[in-house]
Amino acid sequence: MRSKLLALVLGLALILAAAPAAAAPAGPGGKTAVTFLGHAAFQLTSGGTTILIDPYLTGNPQAAASPDVIKADYILVTHAHQDHLGDTVAIARRTGAKVVATAEIARMLKDQGCDVISVHIGAKKAFDFGYVRVTTAIHGSGVAGGHAAGFIVNLRGVTVYHAGDTALFGDMALLGRLEKIDCALLPIGDNYTMGPDDAVEAVGMLTPKIVVPMHYNTHALIKQDPAAFKKAVETRFKGVKVEIMKPGGVLVL
Ligand SMILES: [Zn+2]
Repeated sequence: MRSKLLALVLGLALILAAAPAAAAPAGPGGKTAVTFLGHAAFQLTSGGTTILIDPYLTGNPQAAASPDVIKADYILVTHAHQDHLGDTVAIARRTGAKVVATAEIARMLKDQGCDVISVHIGAKKAFDFGYVRVTTAIHGSGVAGGHAAGFIVNLRGVTVYHAGDTALFGDMALLGRLEKIDCALLPIGDNYTMGPDDAVEAVGMLTPKIVVPMHYNTHALIKQDPAAFKKAVETRFKGVKVEIMKPGGVLVL
């Protein structure tokens, strides 16, 4: 009887272990868990809320989750290029997640059957989990007349900045003054976004506690050395830590 029970418990544990990112990995003690899903895709979870940002999974060589099972209450889309919009429509339709995007992108997604929350750059919009500040991103939107954005997500008091695809811009200093950023997710790939040198400058302006490089090494055009970036940041800015996340890796804030 006891061994049957043990087998049942072990079986259940195996099932749970085999489904990473399907069930939201809640941070211990109600903390925020940041899961890197590859390229620029992240999952933030806290207190039962799951937020996906730029869920490009199908066709993403780094994808660390399946779009068929991943959970989402909200999906934040920085812009509509395929390596960011990704599986947004399929995940939103399946889960009923609300999709947050700038107006023209939101309109396009509404036409495709998504439940959208249309915002624009400058918004500091309240949500049941906290708020989302919609920031500038210097990049194409992927939709005629649209705007690319970044998001500063305040999730139950923990602040995560997803810069989207962007060049370095001086108003990052303003964002650093307005927000106490716990974790900044910054592109370092170059070619389509800022490269590592400019991302080091961005860290100086944003003054986050933790930096996670993203949008690199997905393909040859954006090949970079994250260890060199980590060294450059941590040498220049004492007290700032760079976390090089592997796809599927979880950072608890
Ligand atoms: Zn991109």
